[in-house]
Amino acid sequence: MLAVCGLNAWYGPAQALFDVGFTVNLGELVVLQGLNGAGKSTLLQALIGIGPRVEGQIVWDGQALRGWPAHRRARAGLGFVAEDRRLFTGLTVRENLWIAARAGEQGSASDQFAKVLALFPSLQAMLDRPASQMSGGEQQMLALARTLMTSPRLLLLDEPCEGIAPVLVQAMRDALLALAGEGVTMLVAEQNRILAGHAHRVLQLTSGHMDGPPSGQGAG
Ligand code: ATP
Repeated sequence: MLAVCGLNAWYGPAQALFDVGFTVNLGELVVLQGLNGAGKSTLLQALIGIGPRVEGQIVWDGQALRGWPAHRRARAGLGFVAEDRRLFTGLTVRENLWIAARAGEQGSASDQFAKVLALFPSLQAMLDRPASQMSGGEQQMLALARTLMTSPRLLLLDEPCEGIAPVLVQAMRDALLALAGEGVTMLVAEQNRILAGHAHRVLQLTSGHMDGPPSGQGAG
């Protein structure tokens, strides 16, 4: 479904990814592990088309994404939640969610709105709150909920459980496992092994290199 081959990335003269290759199959939860600076964010950004200079092959759903701008990749079903969340902090929770709904798809957007509130019930009580008045963990939930409003077919998440309160880590973990249980395909970067034990596969990045073949893990 997603096939990456020979991916290299550079920030100016500094190379951040070296000949990276892997696949993510339909319905898989794949965890991408690596220390700070290993290249996890760079890799996710390269997939979504907002990263540094990239060479190599990214094939999604049978289509080579070379040269595609980020908005075209999003329309093709790639949904990305950045580590820094990138919310509209001056807008309310409700506005942040609806602004992500696709034009011309209001019917399915209503369904999706109900679905994301079922997934994150605590957002229901905050619908009229500006995003700026939410905690970091609540903002992280909103960022994921907003991306889900676009009905992505592949979710790319950059450290969704990092730096948030333990109770919200639990809620985020439960929500992600519920999505995985529904068969949503996900590639999740993490350092803290919150999801790794539940992943179909764990990929390891070390200094921009993908270590060995993907290791098999118990799905759950
Ligand atoms: P973290 O968990 O700290 O975000 P990461 O695994 O996501 O780490 P990246 O942020 O992708 O790693 O960084 C990979 C390498 O690219 C690092 O050496 C980093 O210093 C470098 N890098 C990342 N962003 C930039 C940038 N905007 N300009 C220059 N170098 C960068």
